[in-house]
Amino acid sequence: MTTISDVRAREVLDSRGNPTVEVDIRLSDGAVGSALVPSGASTGANEALELRDGDDARFRGRGVLVPIGNIEQHIKPAVLGLSALEQESLDNLLLDIDGTPNKSRLGANAILGVSMAAARAAAQSASKPLYEHLGGDAVTLPVPMLNIINGGAHAAGSTDFQEFMVVPAGFDAFRESLRAGVEIYHALADILRRRGLSTSVGDEGGFAPPLDDNRDAVALVIEAIERAGYRPGEQCFIALDVAASELNKDEYPSDKLIGIYEDWVGAYPIVSIEDGIAEDEWDDWQSLSSVIGGNVQLVGDDLFTTNTELIRKGISMNAGNAVLIKLNQIGTVTETLNAIKMTQEAGWGVVISHRSGETEDTTIADLAVGTNAGQIKSGAPARGERTAKYNRLLRIEEELGDRARFAGRQVYERVLG
Ligand code: PGA
Ligand code: ZN
Repeated sequence: MTTISDVRAREVLDSRGNPTVEVDIRLSDGAVGSALVPSGASTGANEALELRDGDDARFRGRGVLVPIGNIEQHIKPAVLGLSALEQESLDNLLLDIDGTPNKSRLGANAILGVSMAAARAAAQSASKPLYEHLGGDAVTLPVPMLNIINGGAHAAGSTDFQEFMVVPAGFDAFRESLRAGVEIYHALADILRRRGLSTSVGDEGGFAPPLDDNRDAVALVIEAIERAGYRPGEQCFIALDVAASELNKDEYPSDKLIGIYEDWVGAYPIVSIEDGIAEDEWDDWQSLSSVIGGNVQLVGDDLFTTNTELIRKGISMNAGNAVLIKLNQIGTVTETLNAIKMTQEAGWGVVISHRSGETEDTTIADLAVGTNAGQIKSGAPARGERTAKYNRLLRIEEELGDRARFAGRQVYERVLG
């Protein structure tokens, strides 16, 4: 049996210059897996706990020596000698050692680092790419949702809504879709420059111009699609992440937001709206879903936090029709796979997602292919921590060769008719 022979953890940096956890797991057959943990800024209240040191003398309190100490003292002694190939029993053991509902004892960042590194080590031990290890014979490359205008908590001075994404779904291959996304990103830069607007970028690599109205951002994305020579509504679509939990509720009450979306979905080729309503407003999520759920994908991020209990509630209430999946919202690979499975079995959409604080880790690219998720959010096609995921998908597509499928427009069949 191939067993875990060593576990190491260290403090490294994420894309915002904050410390994060990296874990290496070595197996008895010499295989090694490493993983880095991402970090959000507009986090949902029900997310698993990201443990920080709180020692103001280091990294403004954001150090991660405490979760790393937990890996060394509590996790390592328990997992040495265990099979790394049994991801589910390993992850269950991590949950047992932690013993809290939100992973607050060991820290979700400690637990996830170990869980992801173990998956990588097991894949290497089996001489399989990670997507195959996670998903067997799944071969579908996801449609990228590229966040080319950043606002909200990710870019001071830009729009109130958080993300304006271009969705190049109408292509035959991932590489062609990504190329369109890149050309549109550069066309947008041209447009902004010509108008004397800033082309500085936000946390996810998208531009963050000072715009008066959220609607101006939608119009800019459409203009960029056209300027790059693509057809909006046929080849390229728009997706939004409003991150409504972060909005001022007096300025943006739910009924006003629903009115805005109804209007926009009629006027623009919008295929997906994420967190259109704040996370604690389940009734308003139901209203939103009954009003426009037949015409547009409604993705719950802060609403569901990759948590099967909340996803089950959403499915039974008809609150939304898709789930955003973030490994560190829930904290283990197994729980993440379970959340994806539950979502797919309900016939809902799945979007695999990065965090606004990212690293060079590419696990989410393999996760998207391995689960046939169909959609991935990894920011703009700029900044290394964002392109790392898109580049990994390019390599997977090449490796799969003739077997590769691109999810394409079919993902939005329900919406596009
Ligand atoms: P976060 O944002 O990583 O800052 O939470 C991403 C998102 O809201 O989708
Ligand atoms: Zn979101």
